[in-house]
Amino acid sequence: MSKIDTNKAIESDGTSGSSKNILNPADKTYEFAESKIDTGRKPMITPAMEKIADHEQTAEAFTLLHTELESLLNGLKDAIFSVDLVRNKMLIASAAHAAVFGYPPSAFYKNPQLFLDLLVPEDKPIVDAGFQALLGGTILRHDVRILHADGHIRWVELKVMPTLDSAGKLVRIDGIASDITGRKQSEKALRRSEQRFRDMFDNAPVGYHEIDMEGKIVEVNQTELDLLGYTREEMMGAFVWTFIEDSESSRTRVLGKLQGLLPPGEGTERKYHRKDNSLIILLVEDRFLRNENEQITGLRSALQDITEKIKVKEELQKFLLATEQSPVSILITNYDGVIEYVNKGFCQMTNYSKEDVIGKNHRAFYSNPDHKIFNKILWDTILSGKDFKGEIMDKKKTGELYWEFVIVFPLVNKDGTTTHFVGIREDITERKRMIEELIGAKERAEEMNKLKSNFLANMSHELRTPLIGILGFSDILTAELENDEQITMAETIYKSGERLKNTLNMILDLSKVEAKQINLLNETQNLLPIVQTCIDLYSGAAREKGLYLKTEITSSYFPVNIDKRLLIDILNNLFSNAIVYTEAGGITVTINTQLIDNKDWVCINIADTGIGINKKDFALIFEEFRQVSEGLSRSFEGTGLGLTLAKKYVELMHGVITLESELGMGSTFTIKFPLVDTAVSKDETRLPISPIRSEMTSLPKNLPSFLYVEDDEISRQVVERMLRGICSLEFANSGLEALERASKKEYACILMDINLGRGIDGTSVTIELRKLPNYAATPIIAVTAFALVKDKDDFIKAGCSDYISKPFTKQELIDIIMKNSLEIHNERG
Ligand code: ADP
Repeated sequence: MSKIDTNKAIESDGTSGSSKNILNPADKTYEFAESKIDTGRKPMITPAMEKIADHEQTAEAFTLLHTELESLLNGLKDAIFSVDLVRNKMLIASAAHAAVFGYPPSAFYKNPQLFLDLLVPEDKPIVDAGFQALLGGTILRHDVRILHADGHIRWVELKVMPTLDSAGKLVRIDGIASDITGRKQSEKALRRSEQRFRDMFDNAPVGYHEIDMEGKIVEVNQTELDLLGYTREEMMGAFVWTFIEDSESSRTRVLGKLQGLLPPGEGTERKYHRKDNSLIILLVEDRFLRNENEQITGLRSALQDITEKIKVKEELQKFLLATEQSPVSILITNYDGVIEYVNKGFCQMTNYSKEDVIGKNHRAFYSNPDHKIFNKILWDTILSGKDFKGEIMDKKKTGELYWEFVIVFPLVNKDGTTTHFVGIREDITERKRMIEELIGAKERAEEMNKLKSNFLANMSHELRTPLIGILGFSDILTAELENDEQITMAETIYKSGERLKNTLNMILDLSKVEAKQINLLNETQNLLPIVQTCIDLYSGAAREKGLYLKTEITSSYFPVNIDKRLLIDILNNLFSNAIVYTEAGGITVTINTQLIDNKDWVCINIADTGIGINKKDFALIFEEFRQVSEGLSRSFEGTGLGLTLAKKYVELMHGVITLESELGMGSTFTIKFPLVDTAVSKDETRLPISPIRSEMTSLPKNLPSFLYVEDDEISRQVVERMLRGICSLEFANSGLEALERASKKEYACILMDINLGRGIDGTSVTIELRKLPNYAATPIIAVTAFALVKDKDDFIKAGCSDYISKPFTKQELIDIIMKNSLEIHNERG
């Protein structure tokens, strides 16, 4: 019901017109109304009433009364109204209606419903409900909003009293409407300010709580709840110390404060328990709560979370201690170089105390004249914002000199301004001394290394020269002797000489690898013929020992980039080991290709059925001079160098050597090299098999003249025997004699010993020989006991055609002569 239908209300009880005594200022009739409302006030006696009481001029009295009442009502600032519901008539609308509603009373007399029309729609239900109450005789009291004639919404406090007739029907309402807009606004402002205060309280940057005299929390703000993780309900009413670490002593403290025995805490650090059991460090400020009589009624506390600050403080403390206790000297100066801080390390290093240096300019402590230039560089560097590093000799307070390594860097603040300089110094006197010693040691080692190289070169020469006698003559004797026993002895001499030569060669090869003197002559070539040649070479030895030597080869073409000499050495070692360490069964050589990491490799497996190698010895056998059976139990001859060299050679050629073996089950050595991607036809790369030996038969019957330049008598005798029937050999004892002979006669070939004793050496003789007419292309073969690669290069550079190292066999000598003579022969056409 949005509008009070008063007529309906009256009609519904069927007592229309039964009420009386209604004051009606509009038609100036007076009726006395019955009202259930007892205002509780004593009746006011006005002059008009007195007249009525005196029974004087009643009509006049009523008029006067009316006037008095009217002026009284109109004098009120609240709008007074009275409505006859039976007749739907406005009985009273006081003058204040104009102010409260903005419409004159006449408007209300004209339209008793006007008030309802002015109500804001949202508040109409309130009035409707209130009207229901009025029907029951209950006073309606409500604050409602109306639309004032000035267009503003105003708050009106409505008090309406019902008048019921004898039958209990509502027949009239009397009421007061007061403009309470101002009050409502103040209330709103107050509410807002309270809310603001609450917000401020709850969202203050610090936690806050209040406790009563028992120590129970009676107020707590949201910040503290958030800090500790509890709900308001969990904290309110709880004893404050239950949240504090070491609750018992906290309780004593809190109660002591509440009893005035202890002062409130100011800036005390306390650890509080959070709900998740973690501890939080809070800085607590207490104040007493007091009543108007200044008696303590409780304690209020503000709490600030300083957990992070404490952590930072502890970190800083740690850094400070680290700086202070660092054994390295640390010094901090201000921008002008005045020392502000030195640590213990500085004092220990320089013997100066903190008092000696703090406040003084760091320059006051330099004594070394070098410091002048050192400092200039230092300051130029650090003033340009860079770090400085350097070494300088300095003096301690005691006068003792020491070397220090100095790092100085600028301390730059947030604005980018350099405020301080930090100097870190380390005493490097000892280190310097050690470095000097090391440099000396290195120099000595280099010197020793040079000596070693010389020694090796000399030893090579000295050992090889006698070997030529041993090997050469035993070889010749074996061929020429007829007595079997003597032949066996000559063969033994030969074999022993061979073994000695091999050992010597390996030692030299190893020193060459170590001295990085191996000149790799890598060439792309088919690996198969090289392996095949080696297999052929060892097939006899295998057969002699009753072993098979099988091959399993998947292709005829395996192009690899290798140094043939080195590969032959590697294979020789692996084959000879396989034969030595195998008593029954034999050796299987497999060559195939494998794809490893997207690259093609050629793999050569040399698998024997011999004694095998224990896994623990796999690494050992590749080490220098190491054998599986060592010491007194050593059961096989050998130097322990072969595999070391093999591994080094394989790796030099970018290959890999691996071993698989089981004791008693045989061993498989595998060497792998990256396959070269080559377009060259397989046939082209096949090595021509042209045994030089077969060419010997085609040597001319008319023996050519050879000259052997040699100062060693034994060597001369050996070579003379070796070349008997092959050439007519002449000798020159010295370089000069050689030049003399050559200038007179054209030799077909010259064998040139390099070390010719006191006179000019073989290389110089060769240079001179090459200058002679007819000697530009003559084969000059260097015959020498010098065996290092470097030497060989020197001979070739000097003009030698080739090189043969002492000792050599007859066959080797013939082979090299044949090879060089044939080359010349071929070149000449
Ligand atoms: P050497 O054979 O001269 O002793 P190596 O370096 O060639 O030196 O070999 C080192 C050791 O490795 C050998 O002494 C031997 O104990 C072991 N060894 C090498 N090859 C084989 C093999 N095929 N079977 C068993 N043992 C081997």
